[in-house]
Amino acid sequence: YLLNGSKNWITYAQVADVGIIYAYTDSTVRYNGLSAFIVEMKSTGVKTGPTAEKLGWHSCPTGEIFFEDVRVPARNLLVKEREGFALVMGSLDNTRLTAAAGAVGVSQALIDQAVQYAKSREQFGKPIGQFQMVQEELARMIVETEAARLLTYRCARQKDQGISNTLETSMAKYYSCETASRVADGALRILGAYGYSTEYPVERLFRDAKLYQILEGSANIHKMIIANDALGYRKANR
Ligand SMILES: Cc1cc2nc3c(=O)[nH]c(=O)nc-3n(C[C@H](O)[C@H](O)[C@H](O)COP(=O)(O)OP(=O)(O)OC[C@H]3O[C@@H](n4cnc5c(N)ncnc54)[C@H](O)[C@@H]3O)c2cc1C
Repeated sequence: YLLNGSKNWITYAQVADVGIIYAYTDSTVRYNGLSAFIVEMKSTGVKTGPTAEKLGWHSCPTGEIFFEDVRVPARNLLVKEREGFALVMGSLDNTRLTAAAGAVGVSQALIDQAVQYAKSREQFGKPIGQFQMVQEELARMIVETEAARLLTYRCARQKDQGISNTLETSMAKYYSCETASRVADGALRILGAYGYSTEYPVERLFRDAKLYQILEGSANIHKMIIANDALGYRKANR
């Protein structure tokens, strides 16, 4: 096979030794013409470069990949020719679950920071944690995170049991990732100026939380999957 094309926003593009590449071997039948290849990233014709500077996730390189007449032997087909779409959709159910779990982790880290700060910061003669409005913010952050965690655990348990769960994965991914941003907002409010300062990890977690709303299918994509399933237009678990 001779592969040509480019793709931006690929995590670890610049440091990967091997890539799984999805390419059309028949572009007339849209996604039914997609094939999956294992490609050595040092192959002739492969070029990579960094993307633009990012808001967060600085420890995780993101790059762009260019393929120009890259020769790939037929034995490097990962599944049968034109069966790439089913493979990529199946793998999304796994990677979307890890995004949900990562977002729950970010939310919990933000809660830990907010609790610690609310107990130690004093205003008007007492710790700010004793003000009911700070407690309300914290309670909301905790309950939403717990709900996100339970959706994520349900999804993980179904995976362990081999149950098809595209719908539940979308619910976990959508809710956990939106929650992380709301929790980040709350944590910033509780820390006041220090939430906005690089002295505390909250501003980094805030920036990291934003990515979860974008990757592994934006919130809109998951809302579409969930609503289309409910309306019977397109069943998610097939
Ligand atoms: C740091 C980082 C790392 C990444 N790593 C990878 C990676 O390793 N591999 C990879 O494949 N991708 C990766 N991505 C890309 C990521 O998956 C996409 O950015 C994401 O899927 C959104 O696509 P987009 O940026 O093209 O947004 P667009 O598709 O342009 O969407 C922009 C907005 O329009 C909305 N929208 C688009 N279409 C519709 C629609 N039909 N209905 C309603 N709303 C719609 C979206 O919800 C969004 O709000 C990465 C991105 C980032 C930022």
